[in-house]
Amino acid sequence: MATAWEDLPRVRLAHLPTPLEEARNLSRELGGPRVLIKRDDCTGLATGGNKTRKLEFLVGDALARGSDVLLTEGNAQSNHCRQTAAAAAAHGLECVLVLSPARCREMTGNLLLDYLLGAKVVTVASGAERMPRMRALAEELASQGRRPYVIPTGGSNGIGAVGYAVALHELLEQEPKVDAIVFCSGSGGTHGGLIAGARLAGYRGRIIGISDGEPRADLVERVRAVAAECLERLGRPGEVQASAIEVLDDYAREGYGVPNQKMIDAIRLVARTQGVVLDPVYSGKAMAGLIDLTRRGEFRRGQTVAFIHTGGIPALFAYREELGPDRVRQER
Ligand SMILES: *Cc1c(COP(=O)(O)O)cnc(C)c1O
Repeated sequence: MATAWEDLPRVRLAHLPTPLEEARNLSRELGGPRVLIKRDDCTGLATGGNKTRKLEFLVGDALARGSDVLLTEGNAQSNHCRQTAAAAAAHGLECVLVLSPARCREMTGNLLLDYLLGAKVVTVASGAERMPRMRALAEELASQGRRPYVIPTGGSNGIGAVGYAVALHELLEQEPKVDAIVFCSGSGGTHGGLIAGARLAGYRGRIIGISDGEPRADLVERVRAVAAECLERLGRPGEVQASAIEVLDDYAREGYGVPNQKMIDAIRLVARTQGVVLDPVYSGKAMAGLIDLTRRGEFRRGQTVAFIHTGGIPALFAYREELGPDRVRQER
């Protein structure tokens, strides 16, 4: 199966394979399954994260097409935009980011890194304005004789998702016996790529995407479409059934980027038992899901659950009020 992506254009950006760590203290604390943490926060690109794997194939495609400027969009604390800015810098491309104000407008976390990495940052007032503005900028650049390459939200199309088909292969090489994979699902590329990779590898375990705030049905449809596109890109086209896609939207009910107590508790537990730092928007909520599913008996002793740490560390600093010591003291 390793040959499925070998002929696709790709650049090297990530430190691979990322470590797969035994989370012994956390497993003991939960009294449940063996938990492994796949450290995709350690992909190494300007503080790492899951977008790096996708960008290896997206930037590869951009260079194959002779592009000279990358455009993408997200909120002000977008990990995807920060990793795209770094990938562009690493490959001598310009980068234009269209950002809308997130909960945090401060010059910190990912936004600060976007500037350091030399991206041209264009801000719009709302999320809905990002896409049309980005398209208009791409047309403007093209009319000036430039070769723009537009990367969709989160790098989640069939090309980017190939990075996670590769990741599934990598994970199974590190540990062939995995009963479930748990991670945060947002724009669907990670999830779609894992599903495509599972089909190639014949992996039969569970693939559980914890939504970052999107209602289940919408996210399932996006994951389905990305997985199908990805299989096509890998030369293995085939139907993907929505009914076979496992998305849980119970752990971000307050909405995208809005903190909740279970996320805060999960971040503290993993930090204090394992010395591993999760993020407040994605991996903290996904870990809250893993903990809850374990407590509800969905994962049992003797089983192996691989948690993909998708990164997001810079955004922690934009949430210092929820996560900092004042809050800790109040609760004690
Ligand atoms: C983007 C992101 C996700 C979600 O991944 P998708 O491929 O967009 O579904 C999860 N965690 C972090 C830290 C992210 O930046």
